[in-house]
Amino acid sequence: MQAFVNARIITPFEDIVQGTIIIEDQKIREIGPSNKIAVPPNTKIYDGINKIICPGFIDIHVHGAKGHDFTEATPAAINQIIDFHMAHGTTSFLPTLISMPEHDAVTALEQLPQAWSKTSFPSSFLGIHLEGPFLNPVYKGVHNSQALCLPSVEKIKTFFDHSAKTIKMITLAPELPNSIKVIQWLKRQKVVISMGHSDATYQQVKEAVQNGLQHSTHTFNAMRGLHHREPGALGAALNIKQISADIIIDGWHVHPTMIQILCRQKEKKKVILITDAGSVCGLANGDYTLWGSKVRLDEDKVFTLDSGKLAGSVMTMEQTIRNFKQFTQCSLTRAIQMATYNPAALLGIENQKGQLLPGNDADLVIMDKNFHITAVVTHGKIITIKT
Ligand SMILES: [Zn+2]
Repeated sequence: MQAFVNARIITPFEDIVQGTIIIEDQKIREIGPSNKIAVPPNTKIYDGINKIICPGFIDIHVHGAKGHDFTEATPAAINQIIDFHMAHGTTSFLPTLISMPEHDAVTALEQLPQAWSKTSFPSSFLGIHLEGPFLNPVYKGVHNSQALCLPSVEKIKTFFDHSAKTIKMITLAPELPNSIKVIQWLKRQKVVISMGHSDATYQQVKEAVQNGLQHSTHTFNAMRGLHHREPGALGAALNIKQISADIIIDGWHVHPTMIQILCRQKEKKKVILITDAGSVCGLANGDYTLWGSKVRLDEDKVFTLDSGKLAGSVMTMEQTIRNFKQFTQCSLTRAIQMATYNPAALLGIENQKGQLLPGNDADLVIMDKNFHITAVVTHGKIITIKT
C-alpha cells in the first residue's frame, strides 16, 4: 500500500485542506482528512505538504505530441505521445483520429487498440475519438477535403467493427444528409455523438439532439457562428441544455471572454477542457508538416503557411488548467472538475475515474501551489517526479 498524507486534496467535489489518500492494488482504498484516517502499518508514505492532489486528467480530444500522431498506431509512437502528455497530467486518453481516406482509417482503427495494449500504460486507453470523416467541407479546418464524405450507416458500421467497438466518441456535422440515421445507429452503440466542423442551423442541431447528439467539439471553432436571426450551431451549443461543450484553452483558438461566456451559459458539469494537441506539441518552434500541410509553430500557436489557419494546438492539460483559471478567475476545484469528472461523466465512467473516491482507479495528479505538476500516479504507479 501507498499513502499520500497532509496534502490539499481536490476530489473535485470536496476540497480537503489537509488530506490523506491510501492506495492499494491500483485503486483508492481510503480518502479523507488526515486526522481521521489511520495509515496502516507497512504503508509507503509520501509527504504531501504544500502539494495539491486531484484526479488524473482525462483528455477526450488529443491527436499526438513529440512529432507523433495517433494515426501512426504503433506502440513506439503511442508510448512517446503518452509519456509526454502523462508528464503533464493526462492519465486517460481518447486518442483522436483526424479524417483519413477510408482504407487508411480502417487500418488505423484496427491497429490503434492493439498497439496501445502493448504500450507501457495500456489502461490509459479509454477508446477512440473519431473526428470525421462526416464533416462539412465549409468548416473543414485542417481536415483533408478528399477524406471527407457524407454520413453512411454502412461506413460507420465498418469503422466500428474494425475498431473492435472501441470507438467511444465521434465528431460529425449533423446537417449533412443521412446524419440522423447515423446518429441513431451510434446512439444504440452508446457512442458519444458530438457536433463539430459543422454548418448546422439551430433547428438542425435541435433535431439531432432529439435523436442522440449530446456534445459539441472544440466549441466556437469550425462551426456556424451566432447570428441574431439564426443562432446556428454555436447558438445551439450555448443554449440547448443537454449539450455539453468542450473547448480549447490556449488563448489563440478562443478569446478568454468567449470562454467566460460559455462558462456562464452552461451548467458547471457541461463544460469540458481539451487540448486538441497535435504532433507538433512538445517540439521546438519551427516549420513542420502536419496532416499534409506545411505549418509553423511559433508563440505556442500552430498555423498553416498557406492560409494562416490554426492547425490544432500545442497545449497540455497542465497548461490548460492554468490558462483556464487565469482566463475565467474560477476556483481551482471548478477548473479541475472540467478536466476530470466532466469528461468521465460524458463517457459514463465517473464511477471508475475522474473523481477521488474509494474503489476508483488510483489516477492522480500532484501539483505544487503554482499548479505545476510534480508527480503523476497512474493505476497506483508513480510515473514522474519533477523537482
Ligand atoms: Zn482535433
